[in-house]
Amino acid sequence: MINRAIELIRNRSNPVVFTGAGMSRESGMRTFRGEEGLWKEYSPERLSSISGLREEPEVVWDWYKMRLMAGEGVKPHAGYRALTHLQKLKGHLPVITQNVDGLHSISGQTDVLEIHGSMRTASCLKKCGFSTQLSHEILKETPPLCPVCGTILRPDIVLFGESLPQETIARSYELAEECDLLIVIGTSVQVWPAAGIPFAALENGVDVIEINPARTELPHSESVISVRRKAGEILPLLVGLKE
Ligand code: NAD
Ligand code: ZN
Repeated sequence: MINRAIELIRNRSNPVVFTGAGMSRESGMRTFRGEEGLWKEYSPERLSSISGLREEPEVVWDWYKMRLMAGEGVKPHAGYRALTHLQKLKGHLPVITQNVDGLHSISGQTDVLEIHGSMRTASCLKKCGFSTQLSHEILKETPPLCPVCGTILRPDIVLFGESLPQETIARSYELAEECDLLIVIGTSVQVWPAAGIPFAALENGVDVIEINPARTELPHSESVISVRRKAGEILPLLVGLKE
């Protein structure tokens, strides 16, 4: 499987990357599902939903404060550097991510589609136009308030109960359907509509490489090359950075 994956990555001219929380696991960010997933301890309905934010803004913001602090000092691991290398090598390599930690951009990648938004910024819940970087300064007050109109701020991520950014998701599906290789890394392929992206690729005859130590919802098929390894360990080898 590994040799086949290396060959495909080397030879295909129009690959696309699709990542999930597992991509950031080796940088120290916890996943949501799976063995050590956050949702084993916390309730997504309460902490990560638009209704939760309106009803219990302090609780929700305390949670984001904790996640933000957990993400401080987090650095992209060798797998991220491998993807940055591959992007330079190919000249064109769109990266679709479900992650909100910004690590793809921090590691120098461009053309990153953050389909679930970003935790690096916050904006006014009432959409008065105010937006800011999320910092300790802003989070001194819980919940943080919009300095323009006094409404609470919201993290710029897609919360449960909200729809995804339509243009970004449409472009992601288009890229997955039209590419010649989809590299799927660290996603349980359970959160829809994001989860539909690899299925859309498969329906269009696109080969899919999956990098994940655990089995996922992706089918056993000739078009799915499953590499059951950790992203940070195996990506440098897959892109030719390591023997
Ligand atoms: P998920 O938590 O549902 O699944 C994570 C997957 O990663 C699992 O299948 C697991 O086996 C795999 N994995 C664990 N360690 C790995 C490693 N070292 N290398 C490769 N794979 C590994 O995550 P999801 O599918 O992305 O869906 C969860 C949702 O959670 C997304 O909507 C995303 O926005 C959000 N989320 C983001 C972050 C982040 O930004 N870092 C963290 C947690 C959750
Ligand atoms: Zn405002």
